[in-house]
Amino acid sequence: MGMDADVIVVGGGLAGLVAATEIADAGKRVMVMDQEGEQSLGGQAFWSLGGLFLVDTPEQRRLGIKDSYDLALQDWMGAAGFDRDEDLWPRRWAEAYVAFAAGEKRGWLRAMGHRIFPVVGWAERGGADAMGHGNSVPRFHVSWGTGPGVVEPFERRAREAAANGRLIFKFRHRVDALSVTNGAVDGVSGTILEPDAIGRGMSSSRKAVGEFSLRAPAVIIASGGIGGNHDLVRQNWPQRLGTPPAHMISGVPAHVDGRMLGIAEGAGARLINRDRMWHYVEGIHNWSPIWPMHGIRILPGPSSMWFDAFGRRLPSPLFPGSDTLAQLQYIMHSGRDYSWFVLTQAIIKKEFALSGSEQNPDLTGKSWLATLRRATNKGAPAPVEAFKAKGADFVVRDNLAELVLAMNALSGENLLELAHLQRQIEARDREIKNPYVKDTQVMNIHNARRYVGDRLIRTAAPHRILDPAHGPLIAVKLNILTRKTLGGLETDLDSRVFGSNGEIIPGLYAAGEAAGFGGGGVHGYRSLEGTFLGGCLFSGRNAGRAAAKVAG
Ligand SMILES: Cc1cc2nc3c(=O)[nH]c(=O)nc-3n(C[C@H](O)[C@H](O)[C@H](O)COP(=O)(O)OP(=O)(O)OC[C@H]3O[C@@H](n4cnc5c(N)ncnc54)[C@H](O)[C@@H]3O)c2cc1C
Repeated sequence: MGMDADVIVVGGGLAGLVAATEIADAGKRVMVMDQEGEQSLGGQAFWSLGGLFLVDTPEQRRLGIKDSYDLALQDWMGAAGFDRDEDLWPRRWAEAYVAFAAGEKRGWLRAMGHRIFPVVGWAERGGADAMGHGNSVPRFHVSWGTGPGVVEPFERRAREAAANGRLIFKFRHRVDALSVTNGAVDGVSGTILEPDAIGRGMSSSRKAVGEFSLRAPAVIIASGGIGGNHDLVRQNWPQRLGTPPAHMISGVPAHVDGRMLGIAEGAGARLINRDRMWHYVEGIHNWSPIWPMHGIRILPGPSSMWFDAFGRRLPSPLFPGSDTLAQLQYIMHSGRDYSWFVLTQAIIKKEFALSGSEQNPDLTGKSWLATLRRATNKGAPAPVEAFKAKGADFVVRDNLAELVLAMNALSGENLLELAHLQRQIEARDREIKNPYVKDTQVMNIHNARRYVGDRLIRTAAPHRILDPAHGPLIAVKLNILTRKTLGGLETDLDSRVFGSNGEIIPGLYAAGEAAGFGGGGVHGYRSLEGTFLGGCLFSGRNAGRAAAKVAG
């Protein structure tokens, strides 16, 4: 039987686009299938902030940051906490990926026109010890143009390949099965969905209008994770994180449905580390939603005070921006699935950033003028002010008594006592002027301000929360926001998928979130942030190059 392509790629997100462009560049014919329409090309990466984990870059050096492969690997291993037999390939992927991030990643992207915003962010700072979780130095490099700025070079290359006949897009083609002949994967079949002109990222029609069956000697699964499917998230939720949240919001579009992972598993592929996931605890309901249950993540600076639903301050080192998974674990054992930030106008102005390309029109639109206004504006960036005014999770009041009243009204639970909160905030405020401070969060604020990037744009000058000169007071009800899937299809360094018998399945490859960003879980338990897009780049590139070699 004739072949329809040399390689079929399932998924037109970042990982799929990277793999497909490598295949076309190698002179092979590639077909990219996606259940969504052309308007959603690029998948989640389009919506992302475009933050990239890079090591020892000119941007870091200009800011006085000393980074190295060894330090980054130490941080990665401390974050990952690999502790299982099936971590063999994830660990190998981790070593290779950190080398990529410290090596050719930046230059490879730059040669395609990608550029980086000069102030490097400091995400996931940890707070335990040198061998524990967290970035020892700032490494979060935001792409100029945010997520679309990451997708753009690959979309451009893919469209060029389409124009010269090496690449065929098959939109609204949903893969329902892999075809397997004599143990080797040699094609896909599925459903053609009706055309739908709905906007990018919105839920599209699932009405079937036909069927398809296509053959190729190699198939790459780049279908993303499970974050849009809350049933699957709850089903895979690990006991160590407590009971699954009753209420969750979605940090990803509905097409991140995890369906293809089950299909691959049904065809004999080995899915590992499915209990490892990366969800955020600073989720807020989008007042202008694009996808169902659309939530936005606050990327917080270090100064907001953090309380659980009962008004107990989160213990050290669970400060904003320190250790996402430990925060999730703490909150899910607190008896409620939400928590509170309490802060001032001075803090929100400098410290609140919102994750997502559409929430950062200045960076996404590559406007220096608009970006500079972040530093000179009277208020917070316009999208943050919009949330403050219209967001369902925000409470703004002039004094603490009224704030607590409004917080209780918002939760409908009356769990917060004014005197309890006041005691804790006043105690923290007493430490602000103390140079020999013992409050570890306040120490952390001073430490953050030793980094010029944080002092410039991410950390408010230390002040008393209850000082009216820095008001009004703001409380934000924080929800659990689903996002990334850390486990996935087990692969070797060529992105070839292992079968349940431990043998490579000929013809089958996986990349991006579907492969746990490489190996079936390159992050182990935790991420250092900015590692997901990079994981798509690295695993997509490996998959594309390897599949191109054997196909055709
Ligand atoms: C708001 C937001 C902010 C983010 N910020 C960052 C950041 O700053 N840094 C970072 O590193 N990461 C970030 N991420 C994460 C990162 O964007 C994603 O993990 C990554 O883009 C996933 O890419 P992917 O190609 O693996 O999957 P996806 O982007 O999910 O693409 C998969 C594609 O496969 C298609 N598909 C699925 N199943 C089928 C099927 N059966 N048949 C046909 N097609 C199918 C889907 O329709 C989709 O188009 C962010 C994500 C979001 C949503």
